[in-house]
Amino acid sequence: MIPMGGVYCRKCGEPWDFYYVTHEMSPAERSEFVKGLGCPKCRARTPPAEIEKEKALASIIEILGEIEQMVKRLETLVSNGPVISLPEGANRAVEHFFYSCQVAEERIKTAVKKNYVTSIQVTALNNELHENVRKMIRATTRSPPLARAMQAFLETNDPVIRDLISQSS
Ligand SMILES: [Zn+2]
Repeated sequence: MIPMGGVYCRKCGEPWDFYYVTHEMSPAERSEFVKGLGCPKCRARTPPAEIEKEKALASIIEILGEIEQMVKRLETLVSNGPVISLPEGANRAVEHFFYSCQVAEERIKTAVKKNYVTSIQVTALNNELHENVRKMIRATTRSPPLARAMQAFLETNDPVIRDLISQSS
């Protein structure tokens, strides 16, 4: 019987009591459960190598999601007018964006090295990353403070960033 407020494992369909999920699962178990990576029951049946692989892919998808959110936010801000003010400052916004892109690239590279992703997946993940870089560059050109921050950032930063931008253009 599924109690009130029961939740299902998105992976195996096992019903779990909401209280158990929020109070009895360890933080790591809960985090995996919420991300749809499985519940303690099906995790116990999954080979450790498979779990590592799923975690690697989930961490890439997570950071790509964050990158997408950052771009969407800036796109919304620049659509309201060319001069925008960001609570964290334009420089910080640009730095944070490219820092996250580097994290995503690193995670993708590591997954490739460990054979965790197929070549089709790698292409799709890289395309998504590059599409967001393109959108980011487009957004910054519409706002002088962001354009200046971008210029300053490009002048001071390492070739990894320039590579990423040239791959995206
Ligand atoms: Zn499960």
